[in-house]
Amino acid sequence: MGEAMERYFIKPGEKVRLKDWSPDPPKDFEGDKESTRAAVAELNRKLEVLQERLYAERKHKVLVILQGMDTSGKDGVIRSVFEGVNPQGVKVANFKVPTQEELDHDYLWRVHKVVPGKGEIVIFNRSHYEDVLVVRVHNLVPPEVWKKRYEQINQFERLLHETGTTILKFFLFISREEQKQRLLERLADPAKHWKFNPGDLKERALWEEYEKAYEDVLSRTSTEYAPWILVPADKKWYRDWVISRVLVETLEGLEIQLPPPLADAETYRRQLLEEDAPESR
Ligand code: ADP
Repeated sequence: MGEAMERYFIKPGEKVRLKDWSPDPPKDFEGDKESTRAAVAELNRKLEVLQERLYAERKHKVLVILQGMDTSGKDGVIRSVFEGVNPQGVKVANFKVPTQEELDHDYLWRVHKVVPGKGEIVIFNRSHYEDVLVVRVHNLVPPEVWKKRYEQINQFERLLHETGTTILKFFLFISREEQKQRLLERLADPAKHWKFNPGDLKERALWEEYEKAYEDVLSRTSTEYAPWILVPADKKWYRDWVISRVLVETLEGLEIQLPPPLADAETYRRQLLEEDAPESR
């Protein structure tokens, strides 16, 4: 991973305090909105090619996890980072409030069912991390239950890794002020009202509890095999650029090989061409 992106990878065991991190692009960042958007478009084309090869090779499995406070841009990332990528090989899994059937099982049951198969990229819009975030903040299970989950999640992700899954976990880091602006924008435009959920204000009131819960997630579950990447997300263009870069660099690192050319392609080619020849009619 290039140095520019390396700085956003949480090192295994690193104690994360969000106040030490910035939701804005770094001061020394040379791009502006326009040039960065152009860079994202370029990365998008690369992603398209890499995804096609991944699909053709049918060897690697790629799991992308998106987490972040409400309005942090999980949907926006799916729209802009994966724009143009063939939907055949990319799936999105949304994790909502669990159904009764899901609650009757262990919390990883619904997750394991939708992890990527060979050649697939699966994007988790929210994930099993909700089981140590919203569940903790709202006391949906007792602390002795959720506290065990960090280790269980690490083991689960280790299993996925050891069976050929590349895992990238992005935490979209926005400021409380930026969330306020985004909620106000939604309320100002009737066409965006559907995106507004009055429940978001209740969650917003619990901002500090969520921050604490996220700090524990980042500190306890960033591993060599399933790292967290802390993405400054107050600027949408910078957020998209960081995620696109990390994805493209990671997929390039997989050294995907296309299946070998067909040895008898020429035979098939002739067969097809002869179909049209007058003497064969
Ligand atoms: P989003 O906010 O992601 O666009 P929704 O408004 O449908 O979509 O929100 C999904 C909700 O489901 C969130 O409030 C989230 O906290 C909740 N949720 C997800 N997983 C769990 C879980 N395991 N337990 C309880 N609530 C969950």
